[in-house]
Amino acid sequence: MNSTDSSPNTSLPDGRDLPLPWHLTLPGDLEPRLRGQLRADALRQLPWASALMLLVMGTATLVEYWVDSSALAELWRPRLVAVLGIVGVLMVAQRMPRLTHLLLCAAALCVALPHIYLGTVIDHPLAQTYFYLAFLAILSLSTLYRVPMSWALPTTLLILAASAGALWQFQPLDARASAVVLAVMACGSLMSLTGLYVMERLQRRFFLSEQLLFLHRSELHEANQTLASEASEDSLTGTINRRGLDSRLAKLLHGMQYQSRGAPDSISVLIFDIDYFKQYNDTYGHQQGDECLKAIASVPKTMVQRSTDFVARYGGEEFVVVLGGTRLADALVFAERMRARVEQLGIPHLGSRSNSVVTISIGVASTSGGAHDADKLIQQADAALYEAKAGGRNCVASVNSDGALRVLRRSA
Ligand code: GH3
Ligand code: MG
Ligand code: MG
Repeated sequence: MNSTDSSPNTSLPDGRDLPLPWHLTLPGDLEPRLRGQLRADALRQLPWASALMLLVMGTATLVEYWVDSSALAELWRPRLVAVLGIVGVLMVAQRMPRLTHLLLCAAALCVALPHIYLGTVIDHPLAQTYFYLAFLAILSLSTLYRVPMSWALPTTLLILAASAGALWQFQPLDARASAVVLAVMACGSLMSLTGLYVMERLQRRFFLSEQLLFLHRSELHEANQTLASEASEDSLTGTINRRGLDSRLAKLLHGMQYQSRGAPDSISVLIFDIDYFKQYNDTYGHQQGDECLKAIASVPKTMVQRSTDFVARYGGEEFVVVLGGTRLADALVFAERMRARVEQLGIPHLGSRSNSVVTISIGVASTSGGAHDADKLIQQADAALYEAKAGGRNCVASVNSDGALRVLRRSA
C-alpha cells in the first residue's frame, strides 16, 4: 500500500472547505452572527453615508434652482420627505440597531419614491433626472449603505417597479424617453446588484475563513494543553512525572529566589517510599502492586491544597510531595498525617516485616532548613528517607536547620 494513503490530512482548513450556496446563507448560527457584523459595519458608516446623500440632494436642489427657480415651489415638499427620511433613519438606527438593514432600505425608498413622484408631476426641463435620482437611491444600497443582497434585491425591484408604473400610468415623458430612462435604470441596477453579490460572496467567504481559523486555533490550543499535561503526567497514578517534577520545582524555587508575585517564601519537599514493596509484589502479584501504588498515591493527592503544592512520582514506588509556602515544622505535621492516613487505609501486607498493613517511610527537607536548590532539597529529603528506613520504617525523618538528621517517633 502506498504510504501516503494512510497519512492523515494535515492541511489547514480554509473558507473553501465549507460550501457557500448561491443564495449565500451560512449554516447554523453563522448566519445571524455575520448579519450582526454586517449591521454593525453599516451602522458605523451610516453618518457618512447619510451626509453624502444629503449633499447629493442639496446639489440637485441648487442645479434645479439654477435651471428653473420656479420649480422649487413644487419640489421642496417631496424633497423634504427624502431629507427627513434620511435623518430619521440615522436617528432610529442608533436606537434600534437590529433594524438597521430594514431602516436603510426605508431610507433608499424615502429618496426614490418622492423623486419618482416629482418626475411624474413636475413639468420641468430636467424632469427625467428625478428618475435618475431614484436610481441613485438604488446605487446607494450597494455602495453607501451596503445592505445584504437579500434586502437590496427586493428594494431595488420595488423602486424599478414604481418607476415603470409611474412612467406607464402617467406618461410624463414620451415613449422613447421613458424607454431610455427605464433601460438605464434597469441596466444600472443589474450592474449594482451583481457587484453587491460578488462583494457579499467575498465577504462571506472571508467570514467563513475567519471562523474556521478561529475554530482551528481553539482546537490546537486544547490539543497543546492535553499534550502538555500528558507529557508531565504519570499514567498509572495520575501524579506528575519526573520531568514535570523537575520543571515545576525549578520554577517554584526560581520564583521564591526572585520573590516573584504569588511565589512562596519557603518550600518543603517530602519523599516517601512504600515499605517492603518488593515483598508486596512477590506476595500479591505485580498487578495488585499497581493497584496498591494508585491507592497510596491518592492519599497525598487529596491532601495537597494550594496551587503551589503537587505530588510527583519520583520513580518506582517512591513519590515526592512539594509544599509551597510551608516551613519545615508544618511539613513534618503534614508528613506525619500522611503516614497515618496510609496506615489507616489498612491495605493488607502479609510480606511486610514491620506491619500487617502497607506503610510508608517519609523523608522531609525544606528551604527553611537551609537547602536552596532542587538537587540539594531532594538530596536532603532522600537522606532523611534513608534515615526513616533505618529507623524502623513507617515513620517520618527530617533534615533540620543545623543539617542534622532526626527521626520523628510516632506516639504508640
Ligand atoms: P523498602 O522498605 O526498603 O523500601 O523495601 P522495598 O521492598 O520497598 O524496596 P524498594 O523500595 O527498593 O522496592 C522497590 C520495588 O518496587 C521493586 C519493584 O518491584 C517495585 N516497583 C517499582 N515500580 C513498580 C510499579 O510500577 N508497579 C509495581 N507493582 N511495582 C513496582
Ligand atoms: Mg524504593
Ligand atoms: Mg520501598
